[in-house]
Amino acid sequence: MIKHDCIFCKIAAGQSQSRIIYEDEKAIAFHDMYPQAPVHALVIPKEHFDSIKSVTDDTLLGHLFTAAKKAAEKLGINDYRLVVNTGSKSGQTVFHLHIHILGGRYMTWPPG
Ligand code: 5GP
Ligand code: ZN
Repeated sequence: MIKHDCIFCKIAAGQSQSRIIYEDEKAIAFHDMYPQAPVHALVIPKEHFDSIKSVTDDTLLGHLFTAAKKAAEKLGINDYRLVVNTGSKSGQTVFHLHIHILGGRYMTWPPG
């Protein structure tokens, strides 16, 4: 299902511009508009879920992580961090499930 006021649903439907890295029948990966690292991409399901909490299909979650791995390979990064912000206190600002792929620099731990 697509949510009409959701920017990531628009990207998945090709109704909003994005720099696509990887796409298959269930997922799409594209560059983040406001990169926080030299490489910063997002992987989303084409179907709308507000967050990981709404997903009951384990296969889809596995599919998204595999898509993230494939996108990282395409981006040519060997070391990277995958992040799934969940809920506004975690920093989630777009309420369509997404996995951040961050790479191209050293990451600090713990994250802020
Ligand atoms: P969150 O803060 O929800 O974990 O991550 C949302 C991410 O989406 C942010 O890194 C933000 O820069 C990115 N973003 C927000 N709007 C757009 C957009 O229209 N296009 C792209 N490519 N990225 C976006
Ligand atoms: Zn959506």
